[in-house]
Amino acid sequence: MSILEILKYPDPRLKAPADEVKEIDEGIFGLVEDMLETMYAAPGVGLAATQVGRPVRVAVVDIQCRDETRNPMVLVNPEILEGEGEDLMEEGCLSVAEFTSEVKRHYRVTVRATGLNGGTVELQAEGLLARAFQHEIDHLNGILFIDRISPLKRNIYRRKLRKMSNE
Ligand code: ZN
Repeated sequence: MSILEILKYPDPRLKAPADEVKEIDEGIFGLVEDMLETMYAAPGVGLAATQVGRPVRVAVVDIQCRDETRNPMVLVNPEILEGEGEDLMEEGCLSVAEFTSEVKRHYRVTVRATGLNGGTVELQAEGLLARAFQHEIDHLNGILFIDRISPLKRNIYRRKLRKMSNE
């Protein structure tokens, strides 16, 4: 297992939609192990393969990443079947340095994905877990949370980033 480098905005690879996984082979198992290790080391509640420069539809999520009782979830080819309710909550991202913002998401979602054993799973989630699923699935579609905030707030972040890189 190894800790992978996490791409940072504005890396163009974060904007590219990921390809569907056709077969869950050793390569995918290895990627998942590395992604989990990378997520826990960060630490973060989720990580998508696009964030580590691998454009395949794989994401890991664990909203208890800081607890003793870790509960890793692995999503292959995940898609949102249904979303309901509205929820506004502060959000950050391992690929977006030094910035958080309130983002509007569904409060409750139903997600269909393939498990590592190749079977189809349907997951119902609400609150933080639902938010993490939506955030990671966005990554697999080339969308960052800063694409979901107002242009005004996004510009504030861009200016801050320019200032940071000039220091
Ligand atoms: Zn993210």
